[in-house]
Amino acid sequence: MNQPVKNGVMVYAEQEEGIVHPVSFELLGKGRELADRLNIELWSVLLGYRVRDKAETLIHYGADRVFLYDDQMLEEFDVVKYKHVLVELVREVAPQLFLIGATPLGRSLAPRIAAALNTGLTADCIDIQIDDRGEIVQIRPAFTGNIIAHIKTRSRPIMATVRYRVMKPLPRDNSRRGKIVERSPPKLPDTGLKFLGEVSTRSVNLAEADIIVSGGRGLKKKEDLNMLKELASLLGGVVGVSRPLVDDGWISKDHQVGFSGNTVKPKLYIACGVSGSPQHMAGMRDSEVIVAINIDRSAPIFRIADYGIVGDLYEVVPKLIEALKRLKENE
Ligand SMILES: Cc1cc2nc3c(=O)[nH]c(=O)nc-3n(C[C@H](O)[C@H](O)[C@H](O)COP(=O)(O)OP(=O)(O)OC[C@H]3O[C@@H](n4cnc5c(N)ncnc54)[C@H](O)[C@@H]3O)c2cc1C
Repeated sequence: MNQPVKNGVMVYAEQEEGIVHPVSFELLGKGRELADRLNIELWSVLLGYRVRDKAETLIHYGADRVFLYDDQMLEEFDVVKYKHVLVELVREVAPQLFLIGATPLGRSLAPRIAAALNTGLTADCIDIQIDDRGEIVQIRPAFTGNIIAHIKTRSRPIMATVRYRVMKPLPRDNSRRGKIVERSPPKLPDTGLKFLGEVSTRSVNLAEADIIVSGGRGLKKKEDLNMLKELASLLGGVVGVSRPLVDDGWISKDHQVGFSGNTVKPKLYIACGVSGSPQHMAGMRDSEVIVAINIDRSAPIFRIADYGIVGDLYEVVPKLIEALKRLKENE
């Protein structure tokens, strides 16, 4: 077997039920840029069962080489088994940099791998760059988003998780050629974990929504979220919230926008009764168009809003709903 060129950039290709998470393509886009600058190969690693065709896809999105572990034992995501396989591979091929999506799955996997390899992990990066000295710099918000930290790691490999939707995938190129290195998993420990079936699914996928209508503490009671739900559904969007509403148990954390919630990048973000704390804005400031509705004209949200409505959301939102209904009736 050909030994891989040492020290490539490695991207973990996350898949569930044969569907590759789009963050993996985003990481390949960034990984391609970094590997080209460092003049090394871009690698990807894919674990699962009956996922060979997905290895080809990873090449089409920029990988030079895909380490493929296609085995029935890896059909379900078992964090301990997956860690075991990845630690062994990383020890063998020694990538310079190992990137993993900061998804719920990636966030459970990455620290376990880093701990086993006795290396550092920079979580929740928003960018990775190469500085003038050719060193890898990991960039992430710190102190609840008030500063942007530039982090270099001494230990190897450098490991980072990267937020979803902060990087751009390359356009798919089906003519790209690369190498698929098929591997068998090592002897896996009996982890005691057993997949019993899915008990709940996420109620909403905020990170991928194109339209978000968000509510904050300007709402007086939980039931008033229904008004925002109605507006969101008329627009074909979903409901987001600021953190206090989640803390008060009004709605699940899947809906939280911000530093400790979801990072979102919709085409339209309507903030209703949200003041615009740094922690909230850290999660939505990259939205394409921001509309803010707030009774306080000095609310910080207006500083980043494209359209600001100074007014009571209990008057403005019903008017918007009415107007949209009229529009729909006339369609
Ligand atoms: C470590 C840490 C992490 C955090 N992570 C997050 C996070 O991920 N996401 C997040 O959102 N927060 C987060 N927070 C909390 C954050 O600091 C703020 O407390 C929170 O964002 C404020 O939410 P809000 O804007 O809804 O409430 P407020 O700041 O109380 O603002 C309510 C706004 O509603 C307006 N208003 C009131 N009545 C009306 C009305 N009738 N019509 C229109 N406007 C009205 C008010 O003028 C005000 O501007 C975090 C805090 C910490 C310490």
